[in-house]
Amino acid sequence: MTEISLYNTRTRRKERFDPINPDNVRMYVCGPTVYDRAHLGNARPVVVFDVLFRLLRHVYGPDHVTYVRNFTDVDDKIIARADENGRPIEEITAETTQWFLEDMGALGALEPTYMPRATAYIGQMIAMIEVLIAKGHAYAADGHVLFDVRSYRDYGALSGRSVDDMIAGARVEVAPYKRDPMDFVLWKPSTDHQPGWDSPWGRGRPGWHIECSAMSRELLGESFDIHGGGNDLTFPHHENEIAQSCCAHPGSDFARYWLHNEMLQVEGRKMSKSLGNFFTVHDLLEQGVPGEVIRFAFLSTHYRKPMDWTAEKAREAEVVLRKWRAIADGVEPSTPSQAVLDRLADDLNTAGAMAELHRLANLLQSWEGGAALPDFDVASAHGEFVASARLLGLLTEELSGWERASSDLSPLTEKLSLARVKAMTTKDFSEVDRLKAALVSAGVEVRMSRDGVELVPGPDFDPSGLDRLE
Ligand SMILES: [Zn+2]
Repeated sequence: MTEISLYNTRTRRKERFDPINPDNVRMYVCGPTVYDRAHLGNARPVVVFDVLFRLLRHVYGPDHVTYVRNFTDVDDKIIARADENGRPIEEITAETTQWFLEDMGALGALEPTYMPRATAYIGQMIAMIEVLIAKGHAYAADGHVLFDVRSYRDYGALSGRSVDDMIAGARVEVAPYKRDPMDFVLWKPSTDHQPGWDSPWGRGRPGWHIECSAMSRELLGESFDIHGGGNDLTFPHHENEIAQSCCAHPGSDFARYWLHNEMLQVEGRKMSKSLGNFFTVHDLLEQGVPGEVIRFAFLSTHYRKPMDWTAEKAREAEVVLRKWRAIADGVEPSTPSQAVLDRLADDLNTAGAMAELHRLANLLQSWEGGAALPDFDVASAHGEFVASARLLGLLTEELSGWERASSDLSPLTEKLSLARVKAMTTKDFSEVDRLKAALVSAGVEVRMSRDGVELVPGPDFDPSGLDRLE
């Protein structure tokens, strides 16, 4: 069996991955708060942990991996959005949940085994809060319930900070009902127009952190294998999850391996509304950037390094993918190459796996170009290439189609035919030559016969080279 190693934020080193139960490998990843379209940065953990999900399924078997990713559908940002738009909360959360699934599906992300919505687990959250109060880790005050951070010795261990450092460094909310400024909300009161549920502390709603502790407990048990998310969640969200779960279930591990992906930038700068470089996955898809291209660009950078999204990277990814899709056309996948598998098993080194795919693709292309490659078993190399790409969620059937759709050359075929007809009379072939040269340099094969003009995109076809011709 392939041995997987993963960098564990908790221990700050790469460790051999040993699941608690290889028959049921369990992973929890924090999901979105549903009130708006997912921006590009939100998609990075989805794609990263999708590759890990695919790798685990490959190694342990598709029926032996349980992946949970939640939807936060009760939150002050959602309430604010509902007030702004005058729409019911349920309508907003249902709509944005659907958007999220569509956009992430367009990036080739498999649906997790369970996608719990927070509002369906309020009873479990209340029960967990009651346990925390009973064990002396939480207290009710002024309609709120707060977690008593000083009652948990290991608070801060994940991010490697002491409680005093955190108070000094963080903007903590000082409220009269808190015993300590770091104490965080497990439950808070709701006004009549805010969503609320009856509880022993009055009508109210849960804090954000408790939902992940309650839902992971319900769906994965008190101890499970992997917990993932963006590194912006390490503190306070994940520290708080650990505090809640470990205090409610003493002796359990909660999650054994903590994985965090780095953030995404755009053209070298932090994505922000004020810089005007803020866009959603849906915006990119609408602009005609294929989901597979976005996925490819993401996977070219290791998940623990900052990912810089650039238009140039997207363009390059499109050219490479078009070539790969031409090579993979009509090929049945066999088993992934050991080299690709080894890269992925080494702390999800997707960049290394992609380099290996490039190497395989180049070999196949040289062979197609007639290069003499002694001992090259082309049939098995083809099958391995496609299977390896699919392990990364690339060259799949679901993501196919764009390479045909955007290589619609009929307007240019028409244009070249007309120019040729005209040149027959004027005997001036300069326009025909100009069009032909531009097509050829963009990787299009130009076939002219008595029957007309035919344009065939070659493996190096780069549609951006044709922009000025249309
Ligand atoms: Zn969470």
